[in-house]
Amino acid sequence: MKIEEVKSTTKTQRIASHSHIKGLGLDESGYAIQSAAGLVGQELAREAAGVVVELIKSKKMAGRAMLLAGPPGTGKTALALAIAQELGSKVPFCPMVGSEVYSTEIKKTEVLMENFRRAIGLRIKETKEVYEGEVTELTPVETENPMGGYGKTVSHVVIGLKTAKGTKQLKLDPSIYESLQKEKVEVGDVIYIEANSGAVKRQGRSDSYATEFDLEAEEYVPLPKGDVHKKKEVIQDVTLHDLDIANARPQGGQDIMSMMGQLMKPKKTEITDKLRKEINKVVNKYIDQGIAELVPGVLFIDEVHMLDIECFTYLHRALESTIAPIVIFATNRGKCTIRGTEDIVAPHGIPLDLLDRVMIIRTLPYSQEEMVQILKIRSQTEGIQIDDSSLAQLGQVGVKTTLRYSVQLLTPSNILAKINGKDAITSEEIDEINKLFYDAKSSAKILAEQEDKFMK
Ligand code: ATP
Repeated sequence: MKIEEVKSTTKTQRIASHSHIKGLGLDESGYAIQSAAGLVGQELAREAAGVVVELIKSKKMAGRAMLLAGPPGTGKTALALAIAQELGSKVPFCPMVGSEVYSTEIKKTEVLMENFRRAIGLRIKETKEVYEGEVTELTPVETENPMGGYGKTVSHVVIGLKTAKGTKQLKLDPSIYESLQKEKVEVGDVIYIEANSGAVKRQGRSDSYATEFDLEAEEYVPLPKGDVHKKKEVIQDVTLHDLDIANARPQGGQDIMSMMGQLMKPKKTEITDKLRKEINKVVNKYIDQGIAELVPGVLFIDEVHMLDIECFTYLHRALESTIAPIVIFATNRGKCTIRGTEDIVAPHGIPLDLLDRVMIIRTLPYSQEEMVQILKIRSQTEGIQIDDSSLAQLGQVGVKTTLRYSVQLLTPSNILAKINGKDAITSEEIDEINKLFYDAKSSAKILAEQEDKFMK
């Protein structure tokens, strides 16, 4: 049985541009504070989202979903992320775009199912046996290369661990020496070594990865009782999708600890329905036993009108399952034909029976002042210097184009400012960069004007 560090498969990149958002920014009575928790303006939508968070927390959202409807760049993704954060720390947030379901290799429903499982977390409490203490000695012991070649290899490593009760000397396998080196452990550091996996952790660090190793090679481990040997409670957060991926191979284990152990071996094979059922079974068992706890997260589906009738049918059913995340749809479309049907027109391209179960929240365009506030927060988050008049100018650009476009101008303008030998962005850089790129609206306008010059 091996218990290793979790390698999460969260889609971090997509969320990076929203890293300044920490929550909905509501006061105690649920009213939106104009600028709080990284969110600016959009007060009504934020307050409505706060109500939804309360419904979710009191378990009254089961079988229902939410829809954010509004023009592009009005913070729909930002709001969905804020909702996930309000639900608690380490609550999974999985963003996807409707068109992602169309692939020649994977079935549409399979893509949806995968994202569903990315949005469902599992918190696992484990009790690990560890050796813990301050390193007083760290000596790799070398022997001649057993293969008869040149050089020497480390045959074992001797370390001293000091606790309040005294110091113990441990003779450990060479692969633990590798972990010690990876963690840059030195004499004087406080560390712990997991008895089962050989994973080494140095205090004050959380990003260590275990090397795979089985300490059952007993001759090396004198198993000291008491003192440096003790039990420690560790909590790990994974998503059901992490477990699917990790166990999508023949030797997948039957208990949760070996399922966790698979997380370190990144070999991808197909995830079958059968495998998912097996995993659900184990997960349910561990939930019943109180070892694991389900953490439903948020699945955000942008451009929901890109889904077709088959996807909607599937989603509708999936929403009713006992293990379901909170589903938040987003769209900037009004009435349109439901994809996959001949001529069924519906609001936002969503079938009426599903729409019936959806709570709709509108997002509205930002004012110039709000855009300036958001641009200011983003420049601070990215460590970009920009003066107030240039911010105002970018805000103007944003009103004419979109918020996203103006936010996207920050980084190239900053690079240009550096080239120009400046510490901060000035209006010169903004003008120049704005001339080089086109936002969606002006691009569409130019295309329309010069239609005859383009190939058809
Ligand atoms: P949508 O999904 O409606 O198109 P979005 O949430 O994806 O919008 P973008 O248009 O990408 O937002 O917005 C650009 C940037 O502005 C992002 O970094 C986003 O986090 C941020 N942003 C959007 N709305 C707000 C807001 N109300 N407060 C603070 N930041 C916001």
